[in-house]
Parts: sequence; C-alpha cells; structure tokens
Amino acid sequence: AVSIRLSQCAKSFANGTRALQPLDLQIHPGETLVLLGPSGCGKTTTLRMIAGLEFPDEGGRVLFGEEDVTMLPIEKRGVGMVFQNYALFPNMSVGENIAYGMKIRKIAAGERAERVERLLEMVHLQGLSHRRVDQLSGGQKQRVALARALAMEPRVLLLDEPLTALDAKLREAVRSDLNKLLRSLGITAIYVTHDQGEAMALGDRIVVMERGKISQIGTPQEIYYHPANDFVAEFIGAMNRVDGIVAGDRLQLPTGTLPLPPDAVAGQPAQALFRPEDVEVIDITEADAHCLRGKLINTFFLGDRTRFEIEIGAERPVIAETSRRGWWEAGQQIAIRVPATALVTMAPRA
Ligand code: ADP
Ligand code: MG
Repeated sequence: AVSIRLSQCAKSFANGTRALQPLDLQIHPGETLVLLGPSGCGKTTTLRMIAGLEFPDEGGRVLFGEEDVTMLPIEKRGVGMVFQNYALFPNMSVGENIAYGMKIRKIAAGERAERVERLLEMVHLQGLSHRRVDQLSGGQKQRVALARALAMEPRVLLLDEPLTALDAKLREAVRSDLNKLLRSLGITAIYVTHDQGEAMALGDRIVVMERGKISQIGTPQEIYYHPANDFVAEFIGAMNRVDGIVAGDRLQLPTGTLPLPPDAVAGQPAQALFRPEDVEVIDITEADAHCLRGKLINTFFLGDRTRFEIEIGAERPVIAETSRRGWWEAGQQIAIRVPATALVTMAPRA
C-alpha cells in the first residue's frame, strides 16, 4: 500500500473563497483516514486534491509514496472514488458498470468477467451481475459503486460521504461491512464524512477539520477522550464542561470537588471536561468530599440507558448517562463522581 503526503496544500477558488489554509497531512500506507468536520470545512476539496480533480495553490505538493503527483490528472493517479450519489450508469447492468473502466483500459473480456465475479463476491452481490442498476436498492447501488471503484485495483480509495443517502439502519450495516472490507484489502483509504459515529467506526485515524484547517489528528479514542481544543470537544459527542479552581490535587467548585487529571496546572482557574457516560450518579447519602452535589432536574429512561440532568451551579447542567439500573426522581438532591482518568482540563473560555 502507498503512503500519501500533502505538504502546504492551500486552495483558493476563482471566486475568492479560501477553502483551505496551507495543509500538511501524512497518510500511512494501508490506513483508513477519515476527514471529519461540519459542512463547508474543506473535506471534499482536500479529497479532490488527493484525487487530482483539484490542484493546490502555488507551493502545495501532493506525494504518493516518493512520487510527486501534484499536477497529475485523476486518470494518471491510480485512485478509485466513491460518492454519495453513486454516480453509476443507470442504463447499464451491474456487471457493465463494474467492468466499464477495465473495458476502457482494454483489459481482455475473460479477465474482466473474472474480476467482476470476484468483486461482486467481495461486496456480497453474487449473482446480480446482469441486474440493471436502477432496479437495485440504495445499499446495493452503493456496493456496486464500491466494486467499480476497486475494479481498477487503485493505489488509493477515496470515499466522499458514501453512506449519506442511505437510511439510518442500512447505514450502520453497510458501515460495518465497509470496515471489514477496508481492513481486509489493506488499501490506503481516505473517507470523508460529517458524521462522527461513522468516523469513529471506520477511521484508523481521524482528522477533524474546521474552516479550512486541521483542528486535531488522532485515533478515534484520542479524539473522543482527549479533544485538543473546544471545537473538537463540542463537535464530537456530548461533553460536560464545568469551571473551577485548581486546589491541591482537586478541582474546587462551589458544589464540591472533582479529581484532577494528570495534565492539570496547579493554582489556576480551569475547566473540566468529561463525557456523560463517565459520570457516576450516587445517592446523596453516599456523597463524600470527592463528589459534586446538585439537584436532579430531569430523568429520561432510554431503554438501554438512563439519562440524568443535574444542576450543579455551572453554566449548563451536567449530563450523566448510565446503563446501570438505578432511579432517582427529578427534584431530588443527588451527587456525582467522575474518575480522574475521564477528565480533561482546559483553560477557561474567554
Ligand atoms: P465540505 O466537503 O467540508 O462540505 P468543501 O470542500 O466542499 O467542504 O468546501 C469548502 C469551501 O469551499 C466551502 O466554503 C465551499 O463553498 C467552497 N467551495 C468548494 N468548491 C468550490 C468551487 N468550485 N468554487 C468556489 N467555492 C467552492
Ligand atoms: Mg463535501
């Protein structure tokens, strides 16, 4: 598998839009790298630069391994692409769609047919070679698009929001298939999405982007548990956020204390961030000095878990989500505990 490097890749469009600030990015051979961020942050532009559908502004370079491909057009790069809207040829059969590129490249009919069979098997569409693509479901179409992208044995697979058009349940099923497939192929893949669940499920590493810049790069766990800044903390999942003062080895709040994570700086005002699923809700009678006390303002039973909203005198209520059985009524006094390892501290927001 090939590595990819973007070096100082900026992009401005003719209308003056600055889509990307100068961007440096290293993609390891065989990894699935996810570009994640809100609409308009520059994900597609980055992907199109890797594809050879856009070219970086003066000074930017794109390398595949040692090869400088900066100015190479898409057909010379050896990339396969999958889009949200499939972009299949509607009047052709499944097999013809998959074989199209091979035909253009004059690959012999026998080998074409063999490869089509192998690809259909890979995406679980055995026997559908002769079906017209307009007779397929959305999920099947997307798998044909994937097989077609893989047909030319690309060095790099590029996917731009490929699951967005599918309904939620199907999206999860295809996502798990895709995860297995990408791992078994070992191909270098770049996957664009605005959906954090998809990013977590598919990415070996995730690049969180914000307004044309990289906000953080890391494994799903690093991004989720150690967001590098406010933007990532707010964009990925639900996050509690409380202000306090560092006192000794605790963070002091008006309603109690929290432990300090290893990265805290003593004596300073600090903000503690922690996930709802890391909050332990305990009865007020069991509260000690290592708790925060508050008032339960809302309780939601969600089946697989229960969600508690607790007023602790911070700007926003603390959210706790637990799969443990236990119930308290809204209006009750309650206490919460958060383990030190689940806390991230940041300087308070200006
Ligand atoms: P994303 O894929 O993250 O939603 P894009 O990369 O498509 O974001 O777009 C980034 C920014 O560049 C947006 O402000 C978008 O409007 C702008 N943009 C994208 N393509 C063009 C283009 N061809 N001409 C002008 N502006 C563009
Ligand atoms: Mg896009």
